[in-house]
Amino acid sequence: MKAPKIMKTYCARCKMHKEHAVSLYKKGRERALSAGRRRYTRKESGYGSQPKPIQKRFAKVTKKQSLRLKCNECGHVTVREGIRLKKIEVV
Ligand SMILES: [Zn+2]
Repeated sequence: MKAPKIMKTYCARCKMHKEHAVSLYKKGRERALSAGRRRYTRKESGYGSQPKPIQKRFAKVTKKQSLRLKCNECGHVTVREGIRLKKIEVV
C-alpha cells in the first residue's frame, strides 16, 4: 500500500481538518531499566537454560502498520490505528 506524504485530516487540538505530515510508526528503543527488562535479565541470569521460549514460527505473515500523523499547524501527533499489511510506503 502507498500512503501519501501529506494528508488532510482531523486534528484534535485544532478541532478541524488540517494538513498532516505522514510517517510510519516505529518502535522506540527499549529501556534497559524498565520493570520487564529488569525482571527478564534477572530470570536469564544464573544457571539453567533459556527461561522463556524464543518464538521462531509465526502464525501471521503480515504486521500491523500504523501511520504517525503530525499536524503542520500545531505539531500535534496522532497515531492511526494499524491495519495488517505486508508492505507500506510513504510516497
Ligand atoms: Zn493541529
